[in-house]
Amino acid sequence: MTGADQLRWRGLVLDLINEIIHIEGGSVFVGEVRIVPAATFVDHTHGTAMLLDDGTIAVRIAVERAPAAVGDTILHEIAHILLGTEHIDNPDHGPRFQDLYTHLKAKYLDTVTDDLPR
Ligand SMILES: [Zn+2]
Repeated sequence: MTGADQLRWRGLVLDLINEIIHIEGGSVFVGEVRIVPAATFVDHTHGTAMLLDDGTIAVRIAVERAPAAVGDTILHEIAHILLGTEHIDNPDHGPRFQDLYTHLKAKYLDTVTDDLPR
């Protein structure tokens, strides 16, 4: 993955995430996307949403996987973000998260997957 690819991914994923947050009525938006050219992080996860010290949100995504898997991770992180800053700081995968994640996947997974760079 070249630097230009990484830049293209960053802009695209940032727009996708904030557009979905907007449509879903979220109030917290992402300021920064970090594209990781690997299949997983060292802790074997594929994505993270982080609340930074300045109150903004950064999302990190491992993108060297099938587009549908990357799309799934993006929606997983959006579900965490839509649950608010307190949740982002102390996330869980309980019923509130599962309901929202299932809703987001049904509504957006095909679109997000198709929009990703190849
Ligand atoms: Zn999670």
